[in-house]
Amino acid sequence: MEDMLLIAGPCSAESRAQVLETAKGLAGMKVDYFRAGIWKPRTQPGAFEGVGRTGLPWLTEVSATYGLKTCTEVANAQHVEDALEAGVDMLWIGARTTTNPFQVQTIADSLAGVNLPVAVKNPTHPDLALWSGAIERLARAGIRNLMAVHRGFAVHGQVKYRNAPLWQIPIDFRNAHPEIPMINDPSHISGRRDLLADVSQMAMDLAFDGLMVETHPDPDAAWTDAAQQLTPAALKEMLAGLVLRQVKEGAVLDGLASLRAEINMVDEAIIELFARRMGMSKAIGKHKVERGMTILQNKRWQELLAMNLEKGQQLGLDAAFLADVFKAVHQASISIQRSVMREGRNGE
Ligand code: PEP
Ligand code: MN
Repeated sequence: MEDMLLIAGPCSAESRAQVLETAKGLAGMKVDYFRAGIWKPRTQPGAFEGVGRTGLPWLTEVSATYGLKTCTEVANAQHVEDALEAGVDMLWIGARTTTNPFQVQTIADSLAGVNLPVAVKNPTHPDLALWSGAIERLARAGIRNLMAVHRGFAVHGQVKYRNAPLWQIPIDFRNAHPEIPMINDPSHISGRRDLLADVSQMAMDLAFDGLMVETHPDPDAAWTDAAQQLTPAALKEMLAGLVLRQVKEGAVLDGLASLRAEINMVDEAIIELFARRMGMSKAIGKHKVERGMTILQNKRWQELLAMNLEKGQQLGLDAAFLADVFKAVHQASISIQRSVMREGRNGE
């Protein structure tokens, strides 16, 4: 883990005891920054919005007791002022804030003359220019120590990840800003513990500079993001399992690595679409059972195939290839509908 930057700590600071217990668990590990959200931007009103400034002395205590540097999310000038006063060592701008240039500018203005490290999370939607723009606003305010955090993107219909990684976007960001370290946040990409190791390994394979991982002493009881947090012990185990390559190509990935990352991403999207497609087949199977219809509706199938081949032709796809793909999809769809029908019969 020698040259990897590690940021770890709870999604939210909940209590003094929870913050200190997490820090204690992380103290023996090579953690560069202890994170804890003090002000939490929540999508739905009524959810826990963070303990607020009450939690800042807990971070000071983490530094004093365990010698860890601390960081927290800031979303306005008051947060910046409070965090600076409490001696927080690094600040990050959350994904929802990065989407708003007015807010980013306010934060940049309030940081003028204060050369604290600042990490900028990618905006919630896949917009590279907005991410770059936020970094540039901070750079113009004189912030020299900037980092980018890749936390994935909200994409409608995404089923596997909480936030789709869309790996090509951080790769494009690095190529535009090779001097800015790129940190991966597998927690907010995955949304669930069992995906964290794979996402982190992908980040290492793409020569990312570090990881930000949410860590909680009792993850299932966490007040926010319970499903994605790890205990400090589980984090240690996950990090030990990562394969780190010695030879990095530096900031700019070569063409092959970047194309392969894009292929992996597209293949994954295809698999997710297949899963959705088969979900539709199941639903249509139920309708057919209820209406006493045969599974094969040949006229509909012929029309569907012709329509899809025509769409494929417009995109320059080989007709024979596409016909094979749709015939295979149709066969799989028939099998699913047959099992729906069998279940229907058994249930009678
Ligand atoms: C967080 O880090 O807890 C957080 C709110 O993240 P994001 O801004 O990436 O959603
Ligand atoms: Mn979180």
